[in-house]
Amino acid sequence: TNILAIESSCDETAAAIVSDGTRVRANIIASQIAVHRRFGGVVPEIASRHHMENIVPVVSEALATAGLAFSDVDAVAVTYGPGLVGALLVGVAYAKSLAYALGKPLIGVHHLLGHIYAGFLAYPDLPLPAVSLVVSGGHTNLVYLEDHTTRRILGSTRDDAAGEAFDKVARVLGLPYPGGPELEKLAREGDPRAIPFPRAWLEEKSLDFSFSGLKSAVINYLHHARQVGQEVNRADVAASFQAAVAEVLVTKTLLAATSYRARSILLAGGVAANSVLRRELRSAGEQAGLPVFFPPRELCTDNAAMIGCAAYYQYLRRDFAPLSLNAIPDLPLN
Ligand code: ATP
Ligand code: MG
Ligand code: FE
Repeated sequence: TNILAIESSCDETAAAIVSDGTRVRANIIASQIAVHRRFGGVVPEIASRHHMENIVPVVSEALATAGLAFSDVDAVAVTYGPGLVGALLVGVAYAKSLAYALGKPLIGVHHLLGHIYAGFLAYPDLPLPAVSLVVSGGHTNLVYLEDHTTRRILGSTRDDAAGEAFDKVARVLGLPYPGGPELEKLAREGDPRAIPFPRAWLEEKSLDFSFSGLKSAVINYLHHARQVGQEVNRADVAASFQAAVAEVLVTKTLLAATSYRARSILLAGGVAANSVLRRELRSAGEQAGLPVFFPPRELCTDNAAMIGCAAYYQYLRRDFAPLSLNAIPDLPLN
């Protein structure tokens, strides 16, 4: 089964061809990072325009790379939410037209489910039930995965997403957009124990998150240092911030996995590319006797291969979308 998958929810125009949910035959990404960098973040209107320019060439390149023709495509999958409405609409309109023209089924995929399925792409047999920590630019969720059809959100952020916190702190440290990977690089030269930034545990046993207090603490720390004319070690700030985020994420993920008797832990989303988070989560999992899985780094951030994998499981149960499929910017996971 060859699924042509399309992703355009934010600032990457992506197309992939995935066979049987495991074999990535092409994974093409036109990133707009360079375009948005000068604004310090994604400008929705500009993103939509670039998606329109990129969508046709990206799909052609995916087919060429896979050595396939449109006639070899068995289904067309597309992200239809959550995301920027104008950006989503480009992918949705294109996918609908293509599915109609080819006479093949259309599959509407939830973007966060795509992030989760980046894990199943690499590890199709990862033991279920699993608890997945989804940490991306706009979301932070603990999700209980019972099987490929049933899932439940156990906890969410009450304010900023983990990736958003990385990006905002990176920005005040003077790092370019997107800040997460830059902050990780800077943190390598810093001491994670240098500054005791706060950990927001919330209520006892809560599986929710909050990162805005931590973000303010970092901003206040930098302001205060500037006011008293004290030299700041930016690498220490980055490392201490990163340690605070990782500690809370790892502790709550383990709490969720053990209380819900999960058989494995799956890390997903752009922030899952972070080495410190990967290392800490894996070692905490080992101590608890739980295997921890994470996708290869390039499949953590937005791509269409993950959408093609999620779509395959929907294809198996004939979970097809009507041609009236619409973009839903705040599409819920359940
Ligand atoms: P969402 O998936 O919630 O709609 P998004 O698609 O914009 O948001 P992703 O592509 O999943 O987000 O991830 C991008 C985020 O991941 C950014 O916030 C980025 O800074 C962060 N990120 C990427 N690499 C790293 C890293 N190595 N360390 C920390 N954060 C990272
Ligand atoms: Mg992006
Ligand atoms: Fe994403």
